[in-house]
Amino acid sequence: MERKRILIVEDEPQIVGVLQAYLEREGLIVESTGSVAGALAAIAQTRPDMMILDITLEDGSGLDVLRQSGANGGIPSIMLTARAEESDRIVGLELGADDYITKPFSPRELVARVRALFRRLGDRTSTAAQRATRKTRVAELEIDHEFHEVQLSGKPANLTATEFRILTLLAENPGEVFTRSHLLDRLNDDGDIFERTLDRHINNLRKKIEPDPHNPQYVLTVYGVGYKMRRP
Ligand code: CA
Repeated sequence: MERKRILIVEDEPQIVGVLQAYLEREGLIVESTGSVAGALAAIAQTRPDMMILDITLEDGSGLDVLRQSGANGGIPSIMLTARAEESDRIVGLELGADDYITKPFSPRELVARVRALFRRLGDRTSTAAQRATRKTRVAELEIDHEFHEVQLSGKPANLTATEFRILTLLAENPGEVFTRSHLLDRLNDDGDIFERTLDRHINNLRKKIEPDPHNPQYVLTVYGVGYKMRRP
C-alpha cells in the first residue's frame, strides 16, 4: 500500500519531535512546519493525506490554515487545542476539521485518532483489494490491521490493544523466536508493559485465540527463550 503523508503544523519543537517519532513508527511519511505560511506551502506542494493542526502558530492561527486551505478541497485534519478554548474547537469543526484533541494529550491517543480518521476515510475511498493487503493470516487466525480485528475460524476475538500488538508482532514474523526482552523492546513505547506482566498478556491472549489455551497452537513457548508464532 502506498505510504500516507501527514503534515504536523505546530510551533513547539518538543511536541513535533514526539509526534513525528510516533507517526513515523506507524509507517507514515511525516512533514512539519510551525507556521500558517509553511502549512499552506506544504499543502500546495506535497498534498498531505492528513494534517495535525495546532491552533497557536508562529504567524497566526491553525484556523487560518483551515480557512485558506479549504478552497483546495480541504485536507483531513485533527486539531490540537487548549482545554479552555472551546470556541476554537467549534470554529475549527465548522471550518472542516475532522476531529480535535485537547492538550495535554498522550501521543498514543493521538496516533489512535489518526488511525481512526484514516480508517473512516478508507471506508469511503479504499478498494476491497487494498484492504485485503492489510490482513495477516496464520492457519485459522486472521488479523485485520486496518480494522484492528482478529478472527479465529471466522469468530471474532476481542483483544486489548496490548494483546493485539503482541499478536501482530509475532504473526508478522512467523517462526521467529522473540525473547521477552526483545518483545518488550519492540512493544514498550510507553514503558507500561513489564516483564512480569508480559506473561500475563500472553496468557490472556491465548485464552482468546487458542482453541485450547493449555496446548497452544499459535503462540508457542520456546522454553528458556521466549515466544514465537507457528508458521502458517
Ligand atoms: Ca503551538
